Amino acid sequence: MRQVRIQDAPIEPSLWYATAAPAPRTEALTDRIQADVCVIGGGYTGLSSALHLAEQGVDVVLLEAKEIGHGGSGRNAGHCTPTFHFYEIPAIRKMLGEPYASRLIARQTNAANLVFDLIRRYDIDCEGVQTGYVQAAHAPGVLSKMRARCGYYQSLGKATRMLDRDEVAQLTGSPRYHGGWFHPEGGHLNPLGLSRGLARAVLSRGGRVFTQSPVTAISPEAGRWRVEAPQGAVLADKVICGTGAYTTGFWPRLEKTFSTLGVAVMATQPIGDNLRKVIAPNNNTVVDSRADAMIYKYNKEGRLVTSAFVEGRRGRDVAFTKALMREKLKWLLPQLTEVDWQYYWLGALDMQPRTIPRLFDLAPGVVASLGYSGRGVPTGTMMGSVLAEWAPLYMNFAPRLFLAWSRIRDQRLARAGGANPPPF
Ligand SMILES: Cc1cc2nc3c(=O)[nH]c(=O)nc-3n(C[C@H](O)[C@H](O)[C@H](O)COP(=O)(O)OP(=O)(O)OC[C@H]3O[C@@H](n4cnc5c(N)ncnc54)[C@H](O)[C@@H]3O)c2cc1C
Repeated sequence: MRQVRIQDAPIEPSLWYATAAPAPRTEALTDRIQADVCVIGGGYTGLSSALHLAEQGVDVVLLEAKEIGHGGSGRNAGHCTPTFHFYEIPAIRKMLGEPYASRLIARQTNAANLVFDLIRRYDIDCEGVQTGYVQAAHAPGVLSKMRARCGYYQSLGKATRMLDRDEVAQLTGSPRYHGGWFHPEGGHLNPLGLSRGLARAVLSRGGRVFTQSPVTAISPEAGRWRVEAPQGAVLADKVICGTGAYTTGFWPRLEKTFSTLGVAVMATQPIGDNLRKVIAPNNNTVVDSRADAMIYKYNKEGRLVTSAFVEGRRGRDVAFTKALMREKLKWLLPQLTEVDWQYYWLGALDMQPRTIPRLFDLAPGVVASLGYSGRGVPTGTMMGSVLAEWAPLYMNFAPRLFLAWSRIRDQRLARAGGANPPPF
């Protein structure tokens, strides 16, 4: 078995590649151009940053190494879940303190609404449905924790509710669960369709998008930043890096700030109408409470899409993984007598212990947002809107900060090289 780096796995075998609405026409950067802001990465973080900036009239250029949605944003499982995926709300409050905790909680818990609002506003063709999220309890022992979780989201004004054993069986189609909870703001979509639709929206707002333009370096030039690609460059006041798990070495050690976890995603044959009436009949997005969760949703053709973390043989040995996941799904949904995995692909997650987004202030005017550790459909889109607020604000005082930073850097460089810098 040949071991490929997960980030190098192709996107072409994915269901989304076969079914997403086409990408807008874009080309490689072959010129030296200028912009207020240069965004690196054509995933949700980069696209949402570029879109929210373009909406404010900011002159924005986005550079993508391959194609729009080449990274996690084009190959994920398509669940748009409006919660934190690891920490409970009180733990976030404790971890971040105020006012940061309340700000992040407000943004993250409204992030699914932001995604579906963009889909509606820009008429994005991506199978987007906000039909609700079901989290099912795999053991009775997790129900008290779920009750508390459901309550935390209720206290934020969300119409969440607990599900008893019968209702969870009816909503999931599985007799294996002991109850659960429901969040009406969850939904699901075709992730590559969303990425491509966001790129189209950026263009419609006057933003410029270049693909096949991998950034190789960022360096200061005349009080601005020069963002280098093989055949061209962008001179910009600010740079936003949204390169996720697919980050290449354009900024020292940025790719070392996370570890990579592979995810295998697969899709069945279209499920017949009779079965669709009993398996996830409300077209919800379904996940269970296991750490190694079972998770499923339909695509527009009625295929069940599920995923599993890559671990040992699982994910890398395709026949083994398909057999394992077939057994798991059949156990979960006994009505499903036939499971024919017709699509199978891999993607990479940018994992770090805190699991909430990490914002890196790399240099004055250069930021990176990554390390989402999953749940990037809402989180990446939400972080884009945050970064788009930062950038114009930053323009007002960036030149002074930049000068101060450059002075310190030049002095350090001089000292490190044995030179005797002046005392100012
Ligand atoms: C298989 C899988 C399943 C998942 N399932 C879900 C799910 O169901 N729901 C959910 O919410 N989240 C899910 N996630 C997570 C989610 O997809 C990611 O968190 C999210 O897409 C990250 O978006 P991003 O824009 O930060 O990065 P990405 O989408 O990874 O985009 C980064 C982009 O930067 C580009 N790039 C990298 N280096 C350079 C460079 N030097 N120059 C120019 N461009 C560069 C890459 O080519 C890439 O297109 C899943 C992820 C995977 C991999």
